[in-house]
Amino acid sequence: MELRQKDIKIIQEREKSICYNHGQGTGSIQCDQESVSGTVSQRACVYCGARVVLNPITDAYHIVHGPIGCASYTWDIRGSLSSGEEIYRNSFSTDLREKDVIFGGERKLSSAIDEIVENYRPRVIFIYSTCIVGVIGDDVEAVCRQAESKYGIRVIPVKSPGFAGHKSMGYKAACNALMELMGKEKRTKFRAINYLGDFNLSGEIWIIRNYLKAIGVDIVANITGDADCDSLMKAPSASLNIVQCAGSMTYLARRMEEEHDIPFVKVSFFGLEDTASSLRQIAQIIGDEETLRKTEVLILEESSKVEGELQYYRERLMGKNAAVYVGGGFKAISLIRQFRDLGMDTVVVGTQTGKREDYEIIKNITSPGTVILDDTNPYELEHFIREKGADILVGGVKERPLAYKLGVGFCDHNHERKHALSGFEGAVNFAREIHQSVNSPVWEIIKEELGRRSGI
Ligand code: SF4
Repeated sequence: MELRQKDIKIIQEREKSICYNHGQGTGSIQCDQESVSGTVSQRACVYCGARVVLNPITDAYHIVHGPIGCASYTWDIRGSLSSGEEIYRNSFSTDLREKDVIFGGERKLSSAIDEIVENYRPRVIFIYSTCIVGVIGDDVEAVCRQAESKYGIRVIPVKSPGFAGHKSMGYKAACNALMELMGKEKRTKFRAINYLGDFNLSGEIWIIRNYLKAIGVDIVANITGDADCDSLMKAPSASLNIVQCAGSMTYLARRMEEEHDIPFVKVSFFGLEDTASSLRQIAQIIGDEETLRKTEVLILEESSKVEGELQYYRERLMGKNAAVYVGGGFKAISLIRQFRDLGMDTVVVGTQTGKREDYEIIKNITSPGTVILDDTNPYELEHFIREKGADILVGGVKERPLAYKLGVGFCDHNHERKHALSGFEGAVNFAREIHQSVNSPVWEIIKEELGRRSGI
């Protein structure tokens, strides 16, 4: 794979992070590196990564130890849904000011913990370190230890100063905090799994839970969509971990394998193909003949329910082109397969935190000429969306304005979405959204208007 530079000025340090897939590629894309300064990386900070993972724990309290701006940055920005408590929708901050930066913020943090204990009687509090706490060197761990012994509750530090790296390091900090929370229970539950890396943005966990129930498999803990502290403490009793968001959860899965002897597999419930193969994989690992039989029945029933509607969308989407820019590699891979199932070609694909092995798979399943990008920015995305003639961009909240400005469709596959995209029913929701966006008459009106203004 090599980059053809045409009509675009790429910052030199980024050249190896952009490739055209030439099919029989010999080189590998540069990835899993620090972002290049000045490139307008779309990655969030370490603290934000940690917050993304821990915030969905519905009955936990979250204190952001830092200036108020850090707290507002991630307060309730993700639509992760709860079937129980709603405490997690509140955010608490120590609101550090100039004086605290000079004299230290530990006393303020202790007071914040006291206030929360007095008013809300929490069982678990997470304390997030932000940039300034990393700079002034507050001993957050000591404050947490003191509070734990004073109140007999769990007060867990999350080591996430924003500047210490990027979002991926925040995932790791959150996973370390989760390990702190988990009990020492041994693997005792058979045909019971932990579901890692789904944040229940629009009820996806409930869909997958129903599928698993139908084949006789229980979930001990969702980590962390719609999670509660009790189930997380029991997570070590499961016999298998399934990992959906590999970028955020592979580290936790590895630690649980080493320390709790729980094996893990990577799965994906995006699209018919990946949903069916993930269910089969789970059934084969922890099920018996009966589980396998039930799995095949479920796949057949659920696929036949959605086939008619999917065919309707396929006929309307055949031959269109897609661009994908998402957080992790697992999602990008599933999306490429989903677009292929709809008769569409993925002509641009990138991730914020994909790993070498993800890009190898992406290279193998995309068409020759597809542009592959790691940790890209709006400037590069705009160029390649235009160059490759994408009809739709799939991304997150930061990519939406870019798509609309370019006059192409957009699908939010991240925190702002309002309908579930997992499982068989999620595949139909996805196809419907892609159809409604790509084939919306608004793009023709925009093209005409742009043409009129430029005198074409
Ligand atoms: S980069 Fe630092 S200051 Fe900004 S939100 Fe993250 S932790 Fe807060």
